[in-house]
Order: sequence, then C-alpha cells, then structure tokens
Amino acid sequence: MSDENIRKARTHVSQSEALIFERSSPGKRGSDLAPLDVPPADPRRDLGPDLVRDDVEGFPEVSEIEVIRHFTRLSTWNYAIDCGMYPLGSCTMKYNPRVNEYVARLEGLATEHPYQPLELSQGCLRILRDLEKALLAITGMDAVTIEPAAGAQGELTGLLLIHAYLQDTQGQPRKKVLIPDSAHGTNPASAALTGYEVQNIRSDASGQIDFDELRRLATEDVAALMLTNPNTLGVFEERMAEIAALLHERGALLYMDGANMNALAGVARPGDLGVDVMHLNLHKTFSTPHGGGGPGAGPVAVKQKLEPYLPVPVLAEDSEGGFRLEVVRPKSVGRVKAFGGNFGVLVRALAYILAYGPGIRQATEDAVLNANYIRKGLEGIYELPYASPSMHEVVFSDARQKKNEVSTIDIAKRLIDYGFHPYTTAFPLIVHGAMMIEPTESESKEECDLFIDALRSIAGEAATNPALVKSAPHTTRVGRLDEVAAARKPVLRWKA
Ligand SMILES: *Cc1c(COP(=O)(O)O)cnc(C)c1O
Repeated sequence: MSDENIRKARTHVSQSEALIFERSSPGKRGSDLAPLDVPPADPRRDLGPDLVRDDVEGFPEVSEIEVIRHFTRLSTWNYAIDCGMYPLGSCTMKYNPRVNEYVARLEGLATEHPYQPLELSQGCLRILRDLEKALLAITGMDAVTIEPAAGAQGELTGLLLIHAYLQDTQGQPRKKVLIPDSAHGTNPASAALTGYEVQNIRSDASGQIDFDELRRLATEDVAALMLTNPNTLGVFEERMAEIAALLHERGALLYMDGANMNALAGVARPGDLGVDVMHLNLHKTFSTPHGGGGPGAGPVAVKQKLEPYLPVPVLAEDSEGGFRLEVVRPKSVGRVKAFGGNFGVLVRALAYILAYGPGIRQATEDAVLNANYIRKGLEGIYELPYASPSMHEVVFSDARQKKNEVSTIDIAKRLIDYGFHPYTTAFPLIVHGAMMIEPTESESKEECDLFIDALRSIAGEAATNPALVKSAPHTTRVGRLDEVAAARKPVLRWKA
C-alpha cells in the first residue's frame, strides 16, 4: 500500500482520525432542503455586503454520517481514567465515582447561588461544615479552610498563615523556607510568591531529607520547612516527629505538602506527626475529577495556634445549630478566593469520604499495594534508584535502557501504543530519567498485570529494536510534537 493508502486505512483507527477537511469531496451534502415556496432572502441587503461571502474556501463537504462518525471518534480521543489506567505519578488519577457526580448535580446543590441569603444556604453550609470535620478527622489537625482552589493555592495560603503567625508572635516573619530537592515545583514557587527566599535541602541515600543538613540549615532566619510526605520519590519520611521537634525548638514551623495523602489517609495523621500547616488536594486524594487545569480544591489544615490567621470567611456555628460566615477576624490573612471555594468540588469530596467511611484506610492500603505490586513486577527490568520501601507510587529510572539510547520519554510514548496513558516523566528532578508510576487503588490486579506486561515488553523492544521505541507512538495520527511550541504557539486553524 502507498503511504497515502495506509494513511486512509488508518483513519478508521480511532486515534488516527483524519481532519474533517481531508474527508471532504466536492458536492457532498449533509442534508437536502426542500425547494423554497417563498421568495429567498437577500443576505447582502439584510446583513450588508461586507458580511456575506459567495464561498468559504476549503469548507468541508461531507455527508451527515461522516460528520457523526468523525466527531464520535474524536470524542473518544481524550484519554481519561474512564478509558483505562492513568498512572501519572504525583497526580493521583483515581476513578471518580459516579455517585459524586450524582450528588453534585442534585437540585439544591447545583442550582444554589452564592449571593443567596444565608437562611436559604444552610444546607450547603452544613455540607461544608461536614467536609471540614471529615478533613480534620483524617488529618488530625485543629482547624481548616476549604477555600483555596488548588494545591498550589493551598501552599500560598499556608505560607501566608506562617508569615502572619511569625510576624505576630515573633515580631518578624523570618526570611527563608527550606525545601528538599525532591519537592514538587509548586513548593518553591509558593514560597517565593510569599516573599521568602528558598533554600534547597538535599536528600540522603534513602531518598529522605538529610537530617544533618537540616540541622545545619535550620537557622534563626528560617520560617518553615516544606516537606512532602510521602515525598515525590514515594518514600515515607520516617523522621517527621524529630524534624518537627527540631524546627519547633528553633522557632520555625513544619509545613506538609499533603498532595500525597493517598498514601496516608485512614492510616496516619499528619497532626500526630508534628505538622503545623498542611494542604490537601481534594482533586487527587478525594477523587474529584481533574486534569486540564481544574477546577480543584486545596484546603489548608492547621494547628490551633494558626487558627486566628485563617482566611475569611470562616464558617461558624451558633448555639442553635445555624451556620454563618464570619468575616470580621482581625488577625486573618484576608480573602484568598471568592465565595468560599469551589463548592462542586467540595461536595464531590465529601460524597467520596462518606461513601468510604472508615474504608478510606482500605483505599490507602490498596493504593500502596498496587504501587508495590508494580514495583515487584518491574524490578530487575528497570533501574530502581532508591531501594527504600514504596508508598503509593514507585519511581524507576531509564538508566538501563539509556545504554541503547532509549529514554524515559521514549518509553512513555511507546506506552501509548499499548493503550496506556504515560507515567510521569522526568520528575522528580533528583532522579535522572525518572519514570514515576502511581496506579492508585482504582486498578485491579488484571489491569496492573497488563501494565507490567506492557512495560516489560517495551524494555525488550528497547534492547532489540530501540528505533521502534524511539519513534513511538505509532498508533496516533501525530507522533512527537514540539511540546513547547504546542503549548506556546499552538496552530489551531487548518489551512489547505
Ligand atoms: C499536585 C501537587 C501539587 C500541586 O497541586 P495543584 O492542585 O496542581 O496546584 C503540589 N505538591 C505535590 C506533591 C503535588 O503532587
């Protein structure tokens, strides 16, 4: 077959759908209109000659069923957790239970307006209060704000709280925030945005924060340490309590990035480990749909001493069980979000938590089990840079495949041909050629086995036919894009 014929044949594979312009053939129509029995309108007269064209250049001419098939196939392109495993490490792409969607769409929840009088919003406020209570139970913290709209905004909010607390109690906010080299990129960005200088701390050979280095760096001008636990290597920071004690002794605070609570919820509470401030990613751990930039929710939970600084409004309950929104709080850092957060996201998170109840512990255990199952299945095939036990995610590297010049991005692209969404590539930064895999608790053993088989098979290809892997994906209409140009200078218009 000629290349052109192969291309046409492949347009019947869903991932290779041609542009609708390319399906066009002159004179084809989607529908036939009956002959007019009234005089035709004159658009040139009615709209003005400037707005009327005789012809639209390149306008696709296709039949109705071709249009239907084209858009139906396109609608299946967007890879989602509903299509298959989505092992994007650190992102916690778990199944979004349908009951969450049902609840969020209920009349009285989906239709409420934030300017509605408080008397008519009591049910919604009760939901928010129940969510706050559930999050406090899960984290072991004392107070929480559910306003921030993302993990990163939670970080900023948490750091503003630390800034305000130190200013208030020590007369100055201090200068630096310590951040391990395994941290998510949002951590240093949030610290800088709050006005802090960022000081990096290296990890030790086990993948945990280097405690001696921390002891050396936790000087008088340090406001806080931002620690992710389990960290982005999927490794649990075992010395949390000691770390917290050291920081407290030196007048600094411990911030925990709780985006990885999928490894702890129902098992361990950061509040018991000495954490002062933390954020959660409801759109990760608590199953509200995410990807494509939101909406999300990044509640911030704090210990009692930071409660006075929480953003307004603060949800308060009066003695008769009525709810109100407190806005006059002299020490508050102010507003961080309009209308008390992304309500729909918050409703979904509460629905998830209530549906599981104490079963959250089982979800956590299954998430850790799945990550370790995949680790076992791939150990010896891919390099494991840190031998420490894995929590909810496992980080391999491409070191072995690199000998044949096959890198993490090539392997990730090849996974697409096997029907899987790629894992997270090249993060965390401290692992060269990182392959970060987070299956979540949603996946069955069968699905994990298929994924392991795919990655084993790709390792075989990398050894015997590296060119095949390096040129993947082969089943999609376009292969490798210039990803920077695609984001910064997207070409969104078809030209003949
Ligand atoms: C996802 C993530 C964040 C940022 O959360 P967003 O909601 O994307 O802003 C921060 N830290 C870690 C460890 C994460 O995984």
